[in-house]
Amino acid sequence: AEGRVYNFSAGPSQMPLEVLEEIQREMVNYKGCGMSVMEMSHRGKEFMGIANQAEKDLRDIFGVPSDYKVMMSQGGATLMFSSIPLNMLGTKGKGDYLVTGQWGEKALKECNKYGTGQAACNSKSTKFTTIPKPSEWKLDPEAAFAHYCDNETVNGVEWGYTPDVGNVPLVADMSSNFCSRPIDVSKHAVVYAGIQKNLGPSGMAVSFIRPDFVDGKNEAKICPTYCSWKTTVDAESMYNTPACFTMYAMAEYLKYTKKIGGVAYWAEQSDKKAGMLYGAIEGSDGFYQCPVAKDARSRMNVPFTIMGGDEVIEKKFLAEAQKQKLFQLAGHRSVGGCRASLYNGMPIEGVSVLTDFMKSFMDENR
Ligand code: PMP
Repeated sequence: AEGRVYNFSAGPSQMPLEVLEEIQREMVNYKGCGMSVMEMSHRGKEFMGIANQAEKDLRDIFGVPSDYKVMMSQGGATLMFSSIPLNMLGTKGKGDYLVTGQWGEKALKECNKYGTGQAACNSKSTKFTTIPKPSEWKLDPEAAFAHYCDNETVNGVEWGYTPDVGNVPLVADMSSNFCSRPIDVSKHAVVYAGIQKNLGPSGMAVSFIRPDFVDGKNEAKICPTYCSWKTTVDAESMYNTPACFTMYAMAEYLKYTKKIGGVAYWAEQSDKKAGMLYGAIEGSDGFYQCPVAKDARSRMNVPFTIMGGDEVIEKKFLAEAQKQKLFQLAGHRSVGGCRASLYNGMPIEGVSVLTDFMKSFMDENR
């Protein structure tokens, strides 16, 4: 499509063009039913068909065990991590958090409103550039759950394995690497993800939840009805009006994912793209630098600085990048520098334009 740029935003982010075009084709008259998905009742047969297919595709694509519930909820990943303690603390009253970035830190803070959030590890002293070794964790076997953020979007830190927390129910925030590689769902009690990075527009979260956390047994008395996983799951994710259009766009993204080879395809693409960009950074002799430890680097979000964090040169970089159609490369406002997000919607070609530009910018400015 004419005039589109390479959008490296951390989310909402670039979507596969094929998905956008299909949505465009179906926009004003969905499959001949005479109305747009935006306009239809969520209880009608067309929309129920979309929602049911979305759930089926999620189950197929991620190999969700059949006894796990698939929950689609509004409020994004933030409402999900806010509702974790309300649905999981039960009588235990405390939750462990493996904190490796800003999102894990926020999730922990929320737990302290209703119980005790404990940092089983916290890499803040390294400015969130590492994943502490298991021997350094202080896990509490009596914790109601152990939470980790599989990919820290702001800091560019990603887990390369599923943490082993023994018998404590494991909870994962997979917002920013969801649908970018296979997930071992059965090792988790809860996997949740806002979908606006790798699976659609903003407006909702997808969760896979083990049955013993949707039976209401561990639900706090003060839990708002809207945050109750039991209520939401019992109502098949339609306790109230869902984010219908967002769910539909996700359904199209899932359909496309199945067509091109499932999550294995996205994993292969992600490895390639991340390899190209880290290669360009490593090959720059220090002109570009990624602060994250090599074994903790994210395939999705790549933070980097230029000439040791020279703000003037970084500004110039961002301005010149735009002339090559390379957009949204500024780092998160809390860390500065640059950041390129390489979600599913970013084609290899976009990363190739970026790395070519990085090379020529380096040659002109070093
Ligand atoms: N967790 C992670 C890892 C995220 O990247 C984000 C959003 N950037 C959130 C949680 C919060 O998601 P939302 O904005 O959907 O509430």
